[in-house]
Amino acid sequence: MKIIKSVSLMQGYSLKWGDKKRIGFVPTMGSLHEGHVSLLRKAVKENDIVVLSIFVNPIQFGTGEDYKKYPRNFERDEAIAKNAGVDIIFCPLWKDMYPDGYKSYVEVRGLQDYLCGKSRPGHFVGVATVVIKLFNIVRPHNAYFGQKDAQQSIIIRQMVKDLNIPVCIKILQTFREKDGLAMSSRNNYLSQKEREAALVLPKTLLDIKKDILSGERNVGLLSRKANMLIENEPLARLDYFSFVDEKTLAPIEKLSGDILVAAAVWFGAARLIDNFKIRIKDAKKINKRN
Ligand code: AMP
Repeated sequence: MKIIKSVSLMQGYSLKWGDKKRIGFVPTMGSLHEGHVSLLRKAVKENDIVVLSIFVNPIQFGTGEDYKKYPRNFERDEAIAKNAGVDIIFCPLWKDMYPDGYKSYVEVRGLQDYLCGKSRPGHFVGVATVVIKLFNIVRPHNAYFGQKDAQQSIIIRQMVKDLNIPVCIKILQTFREKDGLAMSSRNNYLSQKEREAALVLPKTLLDIKKDILSGERNVGLLSRKANMLIENEPLARLDYFSFVDEKTLAPIEKLSGDILVAAAVWFGAARLIDNFKIRIKDAKKINKRN
């Protein structure tokens, strides 16, 4: 396994491989966990070369957010990556990614206005910008993302389509702890009490999913129930719990078609996100009833 810091060296390798080698790419901010590993393993299965990037991207953090204290543990990440079968860890310095005089940013309009984009203005411009830069450097055939960051995945897919980027985006399901909490590098911030409290997030999502599956179609009612369940947990501070159209991410009033139910909740210093997708098949029936 090679460790490459230099942007030009990384790009040099990718240009040399061209179409002779199928490159799989997993962009991360490090502090690797089983969720990242599930993406890496899939990439190893489907490609000749797997590149993992570890880069805590400063431009996707707002002022007052956790850029400085974001968990970093390169040695541990290196061991995990090696074990997963990664060929190259690409870990550029931020000064090389954004040198003096840097001026270009990518904005995926509309999709960034909802959910996390609302609470974290500028976040998705930072994400889209770093991802397109990484794509241009690593030049992957396949790139792997997690459903946990649903909005991010949808924004990247749209960017790739709009800007004709020759990469296949693969979205893999959320990897969870045994008790249901979605794995996240930010789980490291949780105290033991907060870790226990954090279960309210996946549990509430599951509750709401069960309600929908058993026929509940009233978004207002489901929304009030979810808010109440989360607010009943004293260590939880709700950012949002939203029912949105899976394609446009716009809030919905009626449950029909492909829906994303997504939430962000603070537990102490950790802002955790989670979601589920659901297809409502009985659209006609719902429209009649509503
Ligand atoms: P991050 O390092 O948090 O920026 O995440 C890097 C990639 O791993 C993103 O595509 C995430 O969506 C994905 N990821 C993070 N957590 C999980 C998880 N629990 N299951 C699957 N993928 C994940």
